[in-house]
Amino acid sequence: MELKLYNSLTREIEEFVPQDPDLVTMYVCGPTVYDYVTVGNYRTYVLGDILYRTLLYKKFNVKYIMNLTDVGHLSGDNLGDADVGEDRIEKAAEREGKSATDIASFYIRDFKDGIRKLNLLKPTKFTRATEYISEQINLIKVLESKSFTYETSDGVYFDTGKFPDYGKLSGLDDKKIKEGARVEVNPEKKNPTDFALWKFSPRDSKRWQEWNSPWGKGFPGWHLECSAMCMSELGETVDLHVGGEDLKMIHHQNEIAQSEAATGKKFVNYWVHGAFLLVDEGRMSKSLGNAYTLYDIEERGYSPMDLRYFYLGAHYRSPLNFTWDALGAAKSAMERLRNILSGYKQEGGQLSPDHVFRFEEALLEDLNMPKALAAVWDLIKSDVSEGDKIVTLLYFDEVLGLDLESYIGYEIPQEIMDLAKTREQYRRNGIWDKADVIRKEIEERGFVVEDEIDGFKVKKKF
Ligand SMILES: [Zn+2]
Repeated sequence: MELKLYNSLTREIEEFVPQDPDLVTMYVCGPTVYDYVTVGNYRTYVLGDILYRTLLYKKFNVKYIMNLTDVGHLSGDNLGDADVGEDRIEKAAEREGKSATDIASFYIRDFKDGIRKLNLLKPTKFTRATEYISEQINLIKVLESKSFTYETSDGVYFDTGKFPDYGKLSGLDDKKIKEGARVEVNPEKKNPTDFALWKFSPRDSKRWQEWNSPWGKGFPGWHLECSAMCMSELGETVDLHVGGEDLKMIHHQNEIAQSEAATGKKFVNYWVHGAFLLVDEGRMSKSLGNAYTLYDIEERGYSPMDLRYFYLGAHYRSPLNFTWDALGAAKSAMERLRNILSGYKQEGGQLSPDHVFRFEEALLEDLNMPKALAAVWDLIKSDVSEGDKIVTLLYFDEVLGLDLESYIGYEIPQEIMDLAKTREQYRRNGIWDKADVIRKEIEERGFVVEDEIDGFKVKKKF
């Protein structure tokens, strides 16, 4: 079975064929690291993870790049005002009384924690926009040499009037985009859809982050950063480019325009966009106080893995409505799953071909995860042997990423249980060094002991 994906560019489900059968190239638009990442954005990164895992499951080699935007993303990034407002990182630096670099480093570290908590596989490489300044300047130079740029008093702009294909991703033609544009904020722009490639630092600048360029001191535009990082890491044409649907209309459109204008080649073969996460049927936003983070989830007694299960319950192209009840239902399902798995003890088994077929059929048809989860439950309820269930579930979990293997309840030998009990005694009496020695011994013998509020749990180590 081949992988099929909905391509936002053609608006059709297509068979995925990489340019190079030996290496798939994939770029995911990552976060702007000025604040905690919300559960809305994490939905997109889980989509990227599922796609990545699916490619690995299909035995592709993948080079997967995710950017970290640490400069140039302005606060007003809606249609028509993409180039105004304050730099989000600078604003956060001011708010928290730190340097821009400290802000970025702090939220990058936090994001990487989130990645671990949600069991996302690490990209091949994270790229920070500030580490690709020369690549970005070079890209503007190429665009300038091909007459796609012009200068205004506040920066260097891309002239969308010279790029006939502008709008092909959103499906909107130039006229409609103009009608949709908000009141023109920069009268120096030739077209409302033109966007900044390079912004000059204001005269009275207290900016923390600025660089010299042939056009003047300043900083790169957000759209430019992604094109430059994507092409310098993955080549002029990339197989897959992934992001939230909120990026499709402007950010990705602009990435296409400047990349294709520079190279004369197609920038991306398959565009994959994830739908919004709603909260209580409405928009999620910081101003509404419902832009939940992983900390909010944990504070209410849920685990990020419950959230992962919750995300998988909807197709990535359908809006998903986040409510605490819905997250509660995901938590219950995860608990049920863990309880069932902890009852599985039989060692040795084989893949169940029928169930693998059903799972793959769902997965490879545009990543239909709700159907793939249904295949998981079908397997559990089936009369397949326990050993086969274990092997097949672990095989599915390479894609699901629900960490199922740590819940399978193989028999724990009595001597290991005795060791764990002794360790528990030491722990209760505060004799930490001895407790630690026993913990290590247990691990060396292939088991792990986890502390719980009222005791401990021993699991087989995989
Ligand atoms: Zn991007």
